[in-house]
Amino acid sequence: MRGPAVRARVVITLLALFGLAAQAQTPQFSDVVRSFINVDAPVVVLTHVRVIDGTGAAPRENQTLVLRDGNIVGFGDTGTQAHPQGSTVLDLTGRSVIPGLVMVHEHLYYPTGPGVYGQLGESFVRLYLAGGVTTMRTGGNANGVMDIELARQIEDGKQPGPAIDATAPYLNGPQGMLQMHALRDAEDARSQVKYWADMGATSFKAYMNITRDELGAVVEEAHKRGMKVTGHLCSVTYAEAIDLGIDNLEHGFFPATDFVPDKKPDVCPGQAVGQRTIAALDPNGRAFRNLVKKLVDRHVALTSTLTVFETLTPGRPMPPGLDVLLPELRQNFESFYERNAQNTKSVMPALLPKGFLLERAFAQAGGLLIAGTDPTGAGGVVPGFSNQRQLELLVEAGFSPVEAIKIGTLNGAKYLGRDARVGSIAIGKQADLVVVNGDPSRTIADVRKVDLVFKQGVGYDPARLIASVSGKVGLW
Ligand SMILES: [Zn+2]
Repeated sequence: MRGPAVRARVVITLLALFGLAAQAQTPQFSDVVRSFINVDAPVVVLTHVRVIDGTGAAPRENQTLVLRDGNIVGFGDTGTQAHPQGSTVLDLTGRSVIPGLVMVHEHLYYPTGPGVYGQLGESFVRLYLAGGVTTMRTGGNANGVMDIELARQIEDGKQPGPAIDATAPYLNGPQGMLQMHALRDAEDARSQVKYWADMGATSFKAYMNITRDELGAVVEEAHKRGMKVTGHLCSVTYAEAIDLGIDNLEHGFFPATDFVPDKKPDVCPGQAVGQRTIAALDPNGRAFRNLVKKLVDRHVALTSTLTVFETLTPGRPMPPGLDVLLPELRQNFESFYERNAQNTKSVMPALLPKGFLLERAFAQAGGLLIAGTDPTGAGGVVPGFSNQRQLELLVEAGFSPVEAIKIGTLNGAKYLGRDARVGSIAIGKQADLVVVNGDPSRTIADVRKVDLVFKQGVGYDPARLIASVSGKVGLW
């Protein structure tokens, strides 16, 4: 009987060793990744820092956080936390930490010409990380494999960037963009989901011309694999998509065609037609309240992407981050901005504030509002910079700063099913933290002043990440 007992003990010891090894494991970083790292130590102690924890709770002043092996292992009032021997201590007096942003409508492509989207993954992942994004979902892909491959390379430490939930190429009907496949029927939709899931995609996005049949097939196949489906819809109404089991709808209520009077099934009446009905919608009316109730009852999340709509709205400030763009791309957007400023017929000056109201109403009714930026439109939504801008716009929409931060962190993590590890600041969670110079719980614009971004306990220098791509975003 002795033998097996000893063997059991050996096995337990080995398991314990493997357990420790797994915990202590950080990826072998490539030289490129290393060049952006400022802080990489087994134990890091952040002292005298204001903690905004991502749950919507009031900030806690003068805190200490202990980070070990990529996790938060100590958190309390400064003075109550032991500094383990050999730890690197950073005095963050005057600074705040918020959780790393978890943003869910990101892209690794950008409009570079008429109907053409340049694949800018290499520079975008750096900009996202510099802006404080440590986890993101790409909300549709127009390249095939790049999102999936970059997600792997980042996980393996070969590239800097956020953890990526990589979507498959868009699932759309005909009349899509040049870089989109046009689904033939529900069977085709099914085989697309199978193929891209096998290729490594971890979520799916339906687009404006999909049919109800195709969307139903997509949802069924994705759910079989435990994956979620979101949609930027038009041909299918929100109510229809909810009935088909969709998990998430993009762009708040901006693209909803539920209120178009003579809407034909499976046909997109045109984005502009839908938008006019939203601009005229009564937020207290029965039709809207019923739709909100349906979304909330069926646990369908809504993604706020106010940033992209702001860049299309005359009279709004010039968006941040344009300086990193290739000069031609910056000029493209600036001339659009000038032309658009003269557009007196635009629906946007009425639509944007209505969007604010409707998204607030959804959240107040108990809906899960999550956030992203959508770097598309006419250009001008620059990754990283726009993630910070999205938080500012949520505050403009009426959320308190800590609520806005929660929408951009814990809510996104909840949707992605990653909230046990990321999305808020707590002992046992992954050390994904953004150190900002100031107090964004009072002045949300302070989220723009990023000093350092911790991902899995490793501190990246935002200035170096941005400098490495500055003036070249548009090439790669
Ligand atoms: Zn998008």
